[in-house]
Amino acid sequence: MDCTVDGVLAALRAVTDTVVAHRDELVGLDRAIGDGDHGENLTRGFTSVLAKFADADQPGTPGQVFKLVATTLISTVGGAAGPLFGTAFLRAATAVGEASSLDGELVAAALRAAVDGVVARGKAAEGDKTLVDALAPAARAAETAATEPNATPAAVLAAAAQAAEDGAEATVPLVARKGRASYLGERSAGHLDPGARSTALILRALATSAST
Ligand code: ADP
Ligand code: MG
Ligand code: MG
Repeated sequence: MDCTVDGVLAALRAVTDTVVAHRDELVGLDRAIGDGDHGENLTRGFTSVLAKFADADQPGTPGQVFKLVATTLISTVGGAAGPLFGTAFLRAATAVGEASSLDGELVAAALRAAVDGVVARGKAAEGDKTLVDALAPAARAAETAATEPNATPAAVLAAAAQAAEDGAEATVPLVARKGRASYLGERSAGHLDPGARSTALILRALATSAST
């Protein structure tokens, strides 16, 4: 796939399919250490995103797509995840600017901007058992992959997805220090963080879509 606006829109459809397919899993994870709505929140958000793109005014660049995703997620998702995922896409939009197509370096820059935005907004550090535990290693892996000669978006996203999956798994033993799960204190240990899991799922969907 190329990373022009059409490729990015196709990737968002893949993300939505994944979120819908894993809705119950994410609800179950959030039921264990939160309020059980994460799968529902993301399903509502990304379904609304697709509905926006079905409307008349199609975005012309990847950055415009990310901006529309951001505003839609912020206005429809609510809770902790809405503003955080929204901020991630908003910062990604700024990072890619007016580019008509994304290369590996721009993809890595977008992920770096996304994690910096999430941290600025939510104040979680790595190890706090949040989606930062998936997104921060993903951005680092993307940056490393992007330094390879002719690194494609698919290769950069594949590295990011793998790191996010590893980072999400590593949240299991952690005690939550941010978000609802932190109310449980030590009892939050032994559970996968729902936001880290969804972040890994989203990055894997992007990577798979970019490789086709
Ligand atoms: P809510 O907790 O408001 O119901 P969601 O269930 O949709 O929202 O999202 C919960 C996820 O949000 C958590 O699993 C965690 O990964 C993430 N999260 C919560 N607070 C923060 C924060 N301050 N920084 C980063 N991520 C956070
Ligand atoms: Mg929740
Ligand atoms: Mg909630």
